[in-house]
Amino acid sequence: MIDLLGRPLRNLRLSVTDRCNLRCEYCMPEDDYVWLPREDVLHFEETSGLVDVFLSLGVDKIRLTGGEPLLRRDLPALVRMIAAKPGLKDLALTTNGVLLAGQIDALRDAGLGRITVSLDTLHRDRFLKLTRFDQLDAVHAGIASARRVFGQLKIDTVVMRGVNDDELIPLIEYGRSVNGEVRFIEYMDVGGASRWSPDRIFSRHDMLDALARHYGVIVPIAEPGSSAPADRYLLEDGTTFGIIASTTDPFCSTCDRSRLTADGMWYLCLYATRGIDLRAPVRRGASKEEIAALISGGWRARDDRGAEDRVALGDRRAFVPVQDLLRKDPHLEMHTRGG
Ligand code: SF4
Repeated sequence: MIDLLGRPLRNLRLSVTDRCNLRCEYCMPEDDYVWLPREDVLHFEETSGLVDVFLSLGVDKIRLTGGEPLLRRDLPALVRMIAAKPGLKDLALTTNGVLLAGQIDALRDAGLGRITVSLDTLHRDRFLKLTRFDQLDAVHAGIASARRVFGQLKIDTVVMRGVNDDELIPLIEYGRSVNGEVRFIEYMDVGGASRWSPDRIFSRHDMLDALARHYGVIVPIAEPGSSAPADRYLLEDGTTFGIIASTTDPFCSTCDRSRLTADGMWYLCLYATRGIDLRAPVRRGASKEEIAALISGGWRARDDRGAEDRVALGDRRAFVPVQDLLRKDPHLEMHTRGG
C-alpha cells in the first residue's frame, strides 16, 4: 500500500501508555500534563486486533513506545500476543531503561526482538537536571541487562548544544563497552518540545566535525534502499554509530512510519495535528474489513512530510504553543504519540 508520495506502509510505532517516569527537558518540560483518560486506553485484545489489520496491509515492523512503555502493566503479555503474529519481521522496544532490568527476561521470553535505550548523558548531576530524576544507575542496570539478554542494543541520545554536546565521544566509548550502537539525534521541534529553540540544535555537521577531530576519518556506511531514520558511520577501529538528522536534513521522502497512540488514534506523521480515530470503530464492533478500509484510505491519502515543512519555514519556533493547544489536546504531545 503506497501513499500519495509513493511511500509504503511498513513501520508502526505502537504507544502503549502516555505516562513516563522521567521528565526529559526536550520532551516533557512542563510541570503538569493532561493525560489520556484511562477508560480510553486500548485493552491488549483491542491493540492486538488492530495490529492484525495493520499487518494485513503491509506493516512488518513494530516498535513499542510510550511515554515509557515499561510502565504499562503486564507489557510482556502484549509482546507475546504480537510477537506470534505471522508476517511480523521485527518487534522492538524503545525505553528509558529505568525499569528494564526487572522486565528484560519476561520481555525476551515473550518474543521481543530488539531493545533501544534512551540515554542522553553519562553524568549523574546532568542526568538529574535533564530528567528531574536520579535514575542513572537504574538505566545503566537496564543497559547491562539488555546486553546480557540480547547481546547488543541501540542507545539513542538527543544532542543539545550547551547541554550534552560535549559527551559525543564518551557516549561512543560507553556504547562500545556495552555493545551498544549509539545514535545521536538532533533536537527536534516536535509537539511537547515547548522550550525548543534553534540555538540549541547541534546538527549532524557539528557532530561529525566534533567526532572527526577526535577519531580521524569517519566513513559513511552505504545502505541503499533503507528507510531507517539513522545514517550510519564507521570509525577506523570498526566502531559504528548513527546520526538522525531529523531537524536539519529530514528523511520524509522515504518515511514509512505511522503511530498509534495508547487510546487508538492513528497519526500519519510525527508533526500531524490530526489523527484517525481507530478506537471508536473497534469499540462499536466494526469488522476487520471496515477498519482495514479506514486505514488504507488514510494511508493512500497521506502526503505528510512534517519535518521538511518545518525546514522550509526558515524561522522556526516551538511547534505547538503550550497554552493555546498543547494543554487542550494531549495527542499533540510527543510522549503521547511515541516520539
Ligand atoms: S516528519 Fe513525518 S513524514 Fe517526515 S519523517 Fe517524520 S513522521 Fe515521517
